[in-house]
Amino acid sequence: MHGGAPDFLSALNPEQRAAVETTEGPVLVLAGAGTGKTRVLTARIAHILAQGLARPHQILAVTFTNKAAREMRERIGALIGGEAEGMAWLGTFHAISTKILRRHAELAGLKSNFTILDTDDQIRLLKQVLRAENIDEKRWTARTLAFLIDNWKNRGLSPKTVPAGEAGAFANGKGGALYALYQERLKILNAADFGDLLLETLRVFRENPDVLREYQGRFKYLLVDEYQDTNAVQYLWLRLLAQRQAGAANEITPAQKPNLCCVGDDDQSIYGWRGADVDNILRFEKDFPGAKVIRLERNYRSTGHILAAAAHLIAHNRDRLGKTLFTDGEDGEKPEVSGVWDSEEEARVIGEEIEQLQRKGHSLDQVAILVRASFQMREFEERFITLGLPYKVIGGPRFYERLEIRDALAYLRCTAQPADDLAFERIVNTPKRGLGEASLQIVHDHARRQRIPLMQAARILIETEELKPKQRSTFRALLSDFDRWASQIGQKPHHELAEQILEESGYTDFWKQDKSAEAEGRLENLKELVRSMEEFPDLGAFLEHVSLVMDADAADGGERVSIMTLHGAKGLEFETVFLPGWEEGLFPHQRSLDENGRAGLEEERRLAYVGVTRARRRAKIYFATNRRIHGLWQTTTPSRFLDDLPAAHVQVTENRASGSGYGAYAQSRFANMDAFGSRYDTPGWKRAQQNGPGGRAPRTIEGEVLGKSSPGSAFSPGDRVFHLKFGPGAVAAVDGSKLTIDFDKAGRKLVLDSFVEKKSS
Ligand code: ATP
Ligand code: MG
Repeated sequence: MHGGAPDFLSALNPEQRAAVETTEGPVLVLAGAGTGKTRVLTARIAHILAQGLARPHQILAVTFTNKAAREMRERIGALIGGEAEGMAWLGTFHAISTKILRRHAELAGLKSNFTILDTDDQIRLLKQVLRAENIDEKRWTARTLAFLIDNWKNRGLSPKTVPAGEAGAFANGKGGALYALYQERLKILNAADFGDLLLETLRVFRENPDVLREYQGRFKYLLVDEYQDTNAVQYLWLRLLAQRQAGAANEITPAQKPNLCCVGDDDQSIYGWRGADVDNILRFEKDFPGAKVIRLERNYRSTGHILAAAAHLIAHNRDRLGKTLFTDGEDGEKPEVSGVWDSEEEARVIGEEIEQLQRKGHSLDQVAILVRASFQMREFEERFITLGLPYKVIGGPRFYERLEIRDALAYLRCTAQPADDLAFERIVNTPKRGLGEASLQIVHDHARRQRIPLMQAARILIETEELKPKQRSTFRALLSDFDRWASQIGQKPHHELAEQILEESGYTDFWKQDKSAEAEGRLENLKELVRSMEEFPDLGAFLEHVSLVMDADAADGGERVSIMTLHGAKGLEFETVFLPGWEEGLFPHQRSLDENGRAGLEEERRLAYVGVTRARRRAKIYFATNRRIHGLWQTTTPSRFLDDLPAAHVQVTENRASGSGYGAYAQSRFANMDAFGSRYDTPGWKRAQQNGPGGRAPRTIEGEVLGKSSPGSAFSPGDRVFHLKFGPGAVAAVDGSKLTIDFDKAGRKLVLDSFVEKKSS
């Protein structure tokens, strides 16, 4: 390397290299997909370290997912060796904030071992708040309130700073007060929700200039990937840290110019619905005067046709800066558009294609299926299980969301964090111990009066007459179990302890005794949970990981097809990408169109652009004529995004002549019908027939789709059932094929019986 540049520099093009070597002052890299933005960030960190400009712990590097952080760490390690391990501040906004907040928890009214609540916990807590305030939960749901609060938090608003008009919109003017109460409850529980991780850190910074200055001094270099998707609170957080000195005004004098490098692509801004603000990119030069803006135009990822198709597609958006992209690579295969009958056929066809690729020697790791909505995944999972095709579902805490996993985690949380009321509530009577609502209410009341955690309240109550003797002894036994388990933390390997807890609590037995079809799978999941814990140094680290993971990868090393949402695929690349479900209503998603009109449509189109640009060599797009959405069959129209694809760069299978327009697609759809002889035998077809004459779109009543009545019913009031969309519930009334069901989670709904399964328990 004597005299010459190290490999990680010489492998860059001149613009990329400028972005890497301009280490001092603000730099914005604004460039399209696959132009090497992430590569620039990685090389920049390697360069900073190699030049000795900073030590690893003096670099703050923000990635969008935990997975991206892991990959970046690996890549830096590969470039410069061991030093990458010292990168203590490489992670997502949330992970980094958590770390800061734990260090200064007391300044935010928390203890350093605070619990991070997930959505489910959050909803439960909000329900308690609503109940305590006597608010009609049917009219003003916890979910709506959660949405409002998240939204405020994303915008950096505390209960005090929420604009009066907005705070008054919920529960006749109580929105702001409820937000305040919720925050108060969180503090009592020693808990933070996801939004708090950033908002509370921001508050600590603002209220404690010395703390802020410590971090401003610490981070000599700041780097942010996917900058187009930062929301207001992340932006404020970053801007505070980027100011070298917390000066009087929010102004940055030239001498204080931060060494901040942000990279992003306005065409890939896909989190507007979650408060991300693409304007942050546009504002960069104003916020950081003298910023160097670098554009990258050469795409290194995709072959020519794929890139042309993607560029053409995104050009249909009006709200964009616009940019050129070119590739020096070959044209390659044209993206392929195919019509299929229904989602089952879609899964079957894609499964076949993947098997073909596999036979030709392609690695399954280089194959991804990117869906618009996570419900689409199930069909692929089922098909792949049948085929024995290894796959992994990436993104979303799916595994950790499962009922049995959540219960098991609650036991672990109670053991490690005895103040974790939500966890305690979850398992106090699971499995059943005879601790009913009434006795719990007594504990609750006592806890609230004394402002202490539930477990502590129970400890006090077992010494009094307030609870019945039987319940006292049950509580006593449970508490002594928790004491015993807690005393073993650090004494034995944490995964063994976890196994012991699940055994001794009776939880494992509870599922062993369960006769339902899914019990076996649940036991397997519990085993998997215990196994996965081995990867972590201790129980605390594991629980922290669980609260933060957004991408739970399969643990073992074999090659697997990746199934994930388009949102989760940002920043990733694969040789072959399957893009199923390009139908109106699903993609673009109806909700985006309804709620956000043209802006919503443009965000959906950016999502399509993200999807196509994940592909290096093969992009395969599908639309189905019939789709079961939330358990109900509907006839669909091909996505308008198909018409945004340039005919010259796309291969349409099954007779699609050329040009665009729904007509051509409709034609190809009917032509398709002849190509698949077996389609009339699919259950999908039969369902569609039942649902209406000729499989026409069924009639919609109050958001639920109802089909023709069938005489008699297999259901009767009182039956426990399971519905694809609404989950478990009990039948309240039967009217032909229509059932009124009280769902455990979703409340009372009128649904069609064909989408409901009877449960054996
Ligand atoms: P996205 O917008 O999708 O996040 P990106 O701009 O971050 O894309 P990268 O993922 O960094 O792009 O790069 C895309 C691909 O191109 C990667 O495989 C990367 O290794 C490769 N690449 C980037 N720059 C170069 C280069 N100068 N020479 C060779 N390959 C490159
Ligand atoms: Mg990237």
